[in-house]
Amino acid sequence: MKKHNFYAGPSILSEYTIKNTADAVMNFANTGLSILEVSHRSKEFQAVIDEASDLIKELLEIPEGYHVLFLGGGASTQFCMVPFNILKKKAAYLETGTWAVNAIKEAKLFGEVDVVASSKEANFSYIPKDFVIPTDADYFHFTTNNTIFGTEVRKDIDSPVPLVADMSSDIFSRPIDVSKYDVIYAGAQKNLAPAGVTIVIVKEDALGKVERAIPTMLDYRTHIKKGSMFNTPPVLPIYSALQTLKYYKSLGGIKEIEKIDVRKAAKLYEAIDSSKLFVGTAAVEDRSIMNVCFVMKPEYTELEKEFVEFATSQGMVGIKGHRSVGGFRASLYNALPEASVDALIATMKEFEAKH
Ligand SMILES: *Cc1c(COP(=O)(O)O)cnc(C)c1O
Repeated sequence: MKKHNFYAGPSILSEYTIKNTADAVMNFANTGLSILEVSHRSKEFQAVIDEASDLIKELLEIPEGYHVLFLGGGASTQFCMVPFNILKKKAAYLETGTWAVNAIKEAKLFGEVDVVASSKEANFSYIPKDFVIPTDADYFHFTTNNTIFGTEVRKDIDSPVPLVADMSSDIFSRPIDVSKYDVIYAGAQKNLAPAGVTIVIVKEDALGKVERAIPTMLDYRTHIKKGSMFNTPPVLPIYSALQTLKYYKSLGGIKEIEKIDVRKAAKLYEAIDSSKLFVGTAAVEDRSIMNVCFVMKPEYTELEKEFVEFATSQGMVGIKGHRSVGGFRASLYNALPEASVDALIATMKEFEAKH
């Protein structure tokens, strides 16, 4: 049976990405070698990382003065790497979910942290709106998409200080005004590649302004200077990332992808809102187009397990909600075909008809 992959991360990749990666595992760039066994310093792999960097710059329209890095350690390493490199005295953070909480905890190791607003009291079901970013902060950090709670900030927040964003789960789903940011980072395993590589877009001018000593591996300047080759980069995930980037370009770029993403999410929210059994958990105006969280209405909670079983029998994978929200979560990343959204909606309607 055809599987519909709604996992939150690692998550679905395009067929193009998987097929080309599989081919390169057998024979990479006609070298007669597998991508799994070639030197990262070979000219063939250098061409891969260069092209991936160029495509990210092209797709996101990154201005001059920024570097694209391919690092290990996941988005979670960026929680400390950002303040290590650019927090001089004070930073402002928006607390919108588990990942933001983790980022705040790390930043506190390096200086004063002003948490300008939080939606913790409402289990992170909305994005706080009325907050003031202090003008004396070195930067303002926010999580653009709260993967666990299904809320999203789909804009480049107006701020008196440079922005820093964790875009792990919605990068490449909307155009970004990169010039407003000092650092953008994203673990690749949500919308780009298999786990193992983290994309960092960093503004050159933001660096070199802190007085503390920075360990070599955690200093962005190390990786800028060495073109992400100071140590061995995650070769296979970078190869897969390049395939996804080519695929994104073939779709017509980010603006076209956004249209499809918006349409996919709107359909599913419409089905939830018109349902007798299901209800969304995120504030309507803050709903994520990447991770759609919903639960059974209170009078139907006993049907939760039965719905997961029914959906599984229909080929749905990964729709169980995160334990901090419960219920269901359908992740609609770029690579998820619209037909899978249609299949989920049909499954919901069929289940509803039976009850
Ligand atoms: C998944 C995720 C992370 C954690 O990423 P790792 O690569 O596992 O460290 C951080 N932030 C967001 C928004 C995420 O979705």
